[in-house]
This record gives sequence, C-alpha cells and structure tokens, in this order.
Amino acid sequence: MQDNRKREIRIKADCFRKKCNVSRYGIIDLFKECEQSGYKLLRYPLGENADLGFTLKKDNDTIIFTNTCSRVSREIFTLAHEIGHVILHLEEEPSFIDNHITITGKSTDDKEQEANYFAACLLMPADDVGRFIDLEIGNFERNGLSAMDIARMMSEFNVSFDMALNRLESLGKIDPNQKLILDNERIEMKVGNLLRSVGGNARLNVPSNVIDIPYEYIDYVIYNYNHNAIPRETLEKVLACYRLSLEDISDRLIEHDEVEEDLDDLIGGLDE
Ligand SMILES: [Zn+2]
Repeated sequence: MQDNRKREIRIKADCFRKKCNVSRYGIIDLFKECEQSGYKLLRYPLGENADLGFTLKKDNDTIIFTNTCSRVSREIFTLAHEIGHVILHLEEEPSFIDNHITITGKSTDDKEQEANYFAACLLMPADDVGRFIDLEIGNFERNGLSAMDIARMMSEFNVSFDMALNRLESLGKIDPNQKLILDNERIEMKVGNLLRSVGGNARLNVPSNVIDIPYEYIDYVIYNYNHNAIPRETLEKVLACYRLSLEDISDRLIEHDEVEEDLDDLIGGLDE
C-alpha cells in the first residue's frame, strides 16, 4: 500500500472515530456506533467455521453482518474491517464476504489489506497507542512490554491479544523477537487468565453468541407471512430471534385460516 493511500485511510478512520464515544483510549461500543451511523447491523452465531462477516449495499441500505461465534475482541475487529469496506470500497463493489484469510491479513487482495489497515487505525490510532505507553507503562524504554501490559491494552482498546501485538509491531513499538516472546507468554498464561489478572474485560476473550437483528426486519417477515410468501414455522423462527411469540404480534397477522376458508368457499362455489 502506498504512503499517500495509507494517509487517506488514516484520515477516514480518524473521521469515523471522531464521531464515536471513546473512553480514555478505545471506542466504547463499536456495535452501537455502527447503528448510529445508519448501517443495518446483523449479529448472529453462524458457527465457528463459517464466514466471519460481510457487508453489502441493498437499495439504500448498507448492511453489515458479523458472526457472534468468534471471540468478542475478534468480532469487533471484523466489524471495524467491514466498516472499512463500507467507507473505502462499497461505492465501487456491491459486497464483500470475509473469512479467516481476509481478516487475518493473509489475503494479498488490495481491498482486504486496506480494510485491515482501516480497522487497525480505527481501533488503535498511533497517537493513542503512544499515549497509552507513555502514561500507563512505567519504564517502557528499559523494560519494554509484558504480556500483562498487552492484556491491559486489550481491555482499554477493546481488541484481541493478536491485534494488539500486530499493531505494536507495525508501529515499531516492539520488534519481531519481542513479539514472539510476548506470544509465548500468552500461550503459557492464557489470555483469559491475563485479563483477569489485570482486572480487564474477560468477556472480550469469549464469543458472545448474540443474536441481534434490526427490529424493522420483523416488518418484512410479517409482510411476507401475511402475503403467504413464508410458512408459519419461518415466522416463528424469526420471532424467536427477537424472543417474541406469535401471540405477541397477533394483532398484526392476517389469519391464514380465514384466508383458507374464503378460498374453500370460493372453490366450493366454483364446483357447484
Ligand atoms: Zn474484507
């Protein structure tokens, strides 16, 4: 990626971040920010081996999906990557589907690398990483960073251990050898334990399995049901995602029994 393109992406990430609620260092709730920006966010536990996320433009809607079977910190990164596609690429290409290869930076595709760079700049801007090291780490110059420091960064920036290491390396705060040492420390101590030991947010390290679908999708489904486009079981399944039952929305349903009776009358009438 050329330097001027990188700068363009930093400007766009910074512009998005300025609109977000930020704690001392990290964006507090990127899922909320996504909805505030007018994107339709769907979160669903699609399975561990399924795609991690996608984004697409449909009519006037920008839809972003994230798989809630990944650890929350990784789901947040996927979301940041998808926002990157929306802001950088969705004008030229109508959709992007992401998996472990595109999200972990193993893809050589320019647009995938750009979305990952956007995500890194959005979640961990260079200035804020520098400020964290300056204010929160004693004797950084002499001692460098420990795995517990990385766990604190995870909690402050709402990112995964891997992402924190990658970002620190690309910003020149650690070298590949230090990265390897920290990675080994992580394997020995386990991220969950590290987070607990620094009083961090242990939920970052487990999948949420959340089901979160924009409320207006209920309207589409009810409309389809009322027009006989989907069976009752499908309606029930969708309602279950919202923890609703048929009874809860009964006033909005056209009773199919009545429709069938009318049809019977009509067909009967024709037979006679
Ligand atoms: Zn992508």
